[in-house]
Amino acid sequence: MEKNTEGFCKNCHALLRPVKNRDGSISYICPRCKRNIERTGESDDLFPFEKLRPIQSEFLRDARNALAGKKIMMANAPTGLGKTAVALTATVEYGLKNGCIVFFMTSRQSQHKIAIETLARMRKKTNKIVVADMIGKKSMCIADNIKNSRFFEELCAASYRTHVCKFAHASPEIVRKAKEKPMDADEIIKLGIAQKSCPYMCATDVGKDATVVVCDYNYIFSDLSEIVLQKLGADIENLVLVVDEAHNLPERIRANYTQILRPEDFKEASGMISKIDPMVAGILNRMYGKLTQHNFQDEGKLDRGFFEEIYRSVSAENLAALSFTDFLEKLEMLNAFLEKQGIFEPWLENIGKFIKRWNTNEDALLRFAKEGKFICESLDTSTVGRKVFEKCSAGLIMSATLHPLEMYRDLLGVPEERCMYKYYMSPFPKENRLLLTVRHLTSRYSARNKEMYESYSASITEIIKNVPGNVAVFYTSYQMMAEIGNRITEMCKKLHIFEQSGMTKSQKISVLNELRENRDRGAVLHAVLGGSLSEGIDFRDNLLSCVIIVGIPVSPPNVETVSLENFLKQKYGDEKGYAYARICPAFNKVLQAAGRCIRSEKDRGVIILMDARFNYPGYRKYLPEDFIPENVTDIRSAMARFFGSMQGKER
Ligand code: SF4
Repeated sequence: MEKNTEGFCKNCHALLRPVKNRDGSISYICPRCKRNIERTGESDDLFPFEKLRPIQSEFLRDARNALAGKKIMMANAPTGLGKTAVALTATVEYGLKNGCIVFFMTSRQSQHKIAIETLARMRKKTNKIVVADMIGKKSMCIADNIKNSRFFEELCAASYRTHVCKFAHASPEIVRKAKEKPMDADEIIKLGIAQKSCPYMCATDVGKDATVVVCDYNYIFSDLSEIVLQKLGADIENLVLVVDEAHNLPERIRANYTQILRPEDFKEASGMISKIDPMVAGILNRMYGKLTQHNFQDEGKLDRGFFEEIYRSVSAENLAALSFTDFLEKLEMLNAFLEKQGIFEPWLENIGKFIKRWNTNEDALLRFAKEGKFICESLDTSTVGRKVFEKCSAGLIMSATLHPLEMYRDLLGVPEERCMYKYYMSPFPKENRLLLTVRHLTSRYSARNKEMYESYSASITEIIKNVPGNVAVFYTSYQMMAEIGNRITEMCKKLHIFEQSGMTKSQKISVLNELRENRDRGAVLHAVLGGSLSEGIDFRDNLLSCVIIVGIPVSPPNVETVSLENFLKQKYGDEKGYAYARICPAFNKVLQAAGRCIRSEKDRGVIILMDARFNYPGYRKYLPEDFIPENVTDIRSAMARFFGSMQGKER
């Protein structure tokens, strides 16, 4: 009899069914091929769906091998592969076998729900699976007077310490229910409100017994990680990590380690202690005056000694003034004193923490000011990543746009000897996508003028008129969208929908509905590369017949991008430094937006990359192998052939 260790038929990939033999032993049968198969080895029936597709089978095998070898698998795994189910199957199996906790990390709440649903299916196969869903503490908080504060973390901690928050306990009933059936954060929040119990604390209690924690990146890739692991009673060495949508992780690490201070914080702090310590209050107030005079238009780098100099200049005339270090300590003491009085206003704490960080020797710290704020930003994401990936038991880092893999290895500090690289091809038929580029247009900063906007709008209008269905046009900025999009609306009388900055979930759903309702006449969506309509939104059922990418969204040369580029050049050499800071992040936005077009194996569509630079070898080499556009002079004819052949198929 054929032997099989995988739980799926090697022939047709159907899930094997157990059958009892006459002697009481169990063998397995493939329900399609009707062959008897003897299962050997560990039970690996955790895959939660009926059928494992060939590409999933390959991914699952690779993931199991990587984990068994305690590797970190870095996978460029395209849309449609079904990677969540595979990643959870491989890691949960590994976790159960090796006594490790799976941390499934994702930046999107919708992805939390998919992971929880998948795990609920898996739990039907083994009740050893206990799941904790933990979104941000602030998003789970039900204390309305605290959750909207800019200093939420500090206020929550203080109100917990002093028993001021009336919700600060975990309801045993909610915890029991969540252990028995995987619940997403929304369900826990609802129960928390009903039972006046902190949902975050409930989820944390579930996490203490969890085999899988579904959470945001910052639970592991920020200063929070030590506290989180301590609360859950876990060690980094016993974690098996899944980083989903991992192309976002370097940027998220950078954001997690970026701190902000405003001149107004000094004024607030001064007001709070004016009666307790008039001398310190006076200094803070004078510092506020000096800081408001700073030229925030000049976004240049600032020195490490910047705040100390300001302090000296305003405290010089005061004979009793403290040294700068003593002054910072004094702020801490005053904060502790106020807290004891039941006053929780973390201005003092924030000033102290911020300036201490600003004053550190850290090489990769960028200190600058913009838009009325002083900012400390960490340029080196690899040191944070390395601490995690060196120690964790094993891991999967995956995304549909994790390209180039080596760049993510470098930026995330994954040790080379632990890396296993995998590129998977799209499971969708190649002939369903037409990928084109042009030679006559570019959105380079130096070429931006009225003529350029007019050329773009004329070319795009021509394309839109020849697309049977909806078109999405993605621009490099809101300004480009206004310049070109408004011209197009005058030339093309279709429904035009424009992305607004900071759109809510319901506004995004309305956009999808409008596109659906106008599909026959064809509507035009104008949106921004890197915006909320270019990533993490599913234009399913072939809602877009064409996606046009206008330009390459290379970041403008401001203090942040130039400093990052210089830092990366120093660390990885000139060529990589430039690519990592400028080209690859821009191409990632392009790939994400282009990925809105084809969402399933039945979808068909045209993607047009409208910038001559997509033809330049220096840029082209950073595009994935399966995303090399065809250069055509007559886009209209190429599209007519493509859509014509589609009609032929439909007939
Ligand atoms: S303990 Fe819970 S409910 Fe209370 S402030 Fe903190 S997060 Fe909010």
